[in-house]
Amino acid sequence: MGRTVVVLGGGISGLAASYYLSRAPCPPKVVLVEGSQRLGGWIRSIRGPDGAIFELGPRGIRPAGVLGAQTLLLVSELGLDSEVLPVRGDHPAAQNRFLYVGGALHPLPTGLRGLFRPSPPFSKPLFWAGLRDLTKPRGKEPDETVHSFTQRRLGPEVASLAMDSLCRGVFAGNSRELSVRSCFPSLFHAEQSHRSVILGLLLGTGQRPQPDSALIRQARAERWSQWSLRGGLEMLPQALGSHLTSSGVHVLRGQPVSGLSLQAEGHWKVCLGDSSLEADHIISAIPASELSKLLPAEAAPLAHILSTITAVSVAVVNLQYRGAHLPVQGFGHLVPSSEDPVVLGIVYDSVAFPEQDGSSPGLRVTVMLGGSWLYTMEAGGRALSQELFLQQAQEAVATHLGLKEQPSHGLVHLHKNCIPQYTLGHWQKMESTMQFLAVHRLPLTLAGASYDGVAVNDCVESGRQAAVRVLGTT
Ligand SMILES: Cc1cc2nc3c(=O)[nH]c(=O)nc-3n(C[C@H](O)[C@H](O)[C@H](O)COP(=O)(O)OP(=O)(O)OC[C@H]3O[C@@H](n4cnc5c(N)ncnc54)[C@H](O)[C@@H]3O)c2cc1C
Repeated sequence: MGRTVVVLGGGISGLAASYYLSRAPCPPKVVLVEGSQRLGGWIRSIRGPDGAIFELGPRGIRPAGVLGAQTLLLVSELGLDSEVLPVRGDHPAAQNRFLYVGGALHPLPTGLRGLFRPSPPFSKPLFWAGLRDLTKPRGKEPDETVHSFTQRRLGPEVASLAMDSLCRGVFAGNSRELSVRSCFPSLFHAEQSHRSVILGLLLGTGQRPQPDSALIRQARAERWSQWSLRGGLEMLPQALGSHLTSSGVHVLRGQPVSGLSLQAEGHWKVCLGDSSLEADHIISAIPASELSKLLPAEAAPLAHILSTITAVSVAVVNLQYRGAHLPVQGFGHLVPSSEDPVVLGIVYDSVAFPEQDGSSPGLRVTVMLGGSWLYTMEAGGRALSQELFLQQAQEAVATHLGLKEQPSHGLVHLHKNCIPQYTLGHWQKMESTMQFLAVHRLPLTLAGASYDGVAVNDCVESGRQAAVRVLGTT
């Protein structure tokens, strides 16, 4: 009898794992178990009354590198090429990004010439930060916070303005707690291999061969900075869901896994409320802290490690304005924590993807709120109302962008524990986890945003790698 692989979690990681399992020449029986009624996890696109698209989670995927190409290949395999909305290299959303500092928007320098020009809010041209990096010795620590690493290599201003903001933009996190080794591995390895971040990034580390397709070649030729799909990014998990069902994968929705136990001969019993499933192998693509609550007593040390991989919450406020205009054109702006503890940044959705504006064009922006402010509010048991988030978001849009009118449409969502935090020493947690799984020969493979990258590309790759590992252990 063939093996049964049960995949936990129908977010993009679990969907990708199931997809790559189902494409094996001799696929195992695959059962995908999703706790909610909807596939896609944090990838969720809502259509407004006029057809405009509002992304509640990710809104753009980067095509760069091997992982970017891998996701584009997946898009083509699912027949979604004609739905892709690219942001080409010469578009303002590809060229312009801003920092909001000192009550004003500042464009981040682009191109080589930009490095030699004065670029407020930085007191000196960024060339000087580069020079510092080229002259500093290699760090000796096995890990360092993003802040300490950047301060050491590029100076205090780049650390407290640029990297602080970037950590808020990507992880909704604190650069003084996040690990450079796990959050920005390319920077960490650039220093390790070439002593300098700049030299390491310029000379590269010999990437593995990229997949090839017409879409990937187009993205490269047109220098796309990111892409979306006409009906929103949720089209990707939807297409994956349809593909899985038609390829014989059993997709269970509305079935939260309530416990896992090990049976004789190393089989798993997957408990689903009133019923259960048998599995020869499990791929877990649910958050690490959720998995830690489900593991049996035999795996208590593993459960403990996983419980320490925590996540932060973000309030996402989508706003639409009729007849309004932005003061600048670009992807959006980020806000360092020293400027505002509440607002992480604002994305100018209509600039990057005007095709998603709907039938009565209006300006769409998304305000991300979170970070330490939200954490303090949550920890203090403060009531977090939709009105509070809406008010904070409207104030930010009015102050930062001068849009003082009432929005014609607004959506407010508080995503609890949505972005995992790879804090200092995360790599050691990963090593201990892998060691435990190997030593105890547990038929369990981990995938998903909790471990090795939170971007959609990282999640697709984690699902693909999990499938490769499981297929290799037949
Ligand atoms: C607001 C926001 C903006 C983002 N923006 C971007 C962006 O622009 N670009 C980008 O590349 N990335 C972005 N990301 C990151 C990216 O979207 C996520 O990291 C990624 O979608 C996570 O996918 P996942 O499958 O690993 O996890 P999830 O999406 O969390 O999926 C896990 C699934 O498991 C299910 N589940 C949980 N517990 C159980 C259980 N006990 N039993 C069964 N099922 C269970 C959940 O219901 C969920 O469907 C953003 C994330 C957020 C939150």
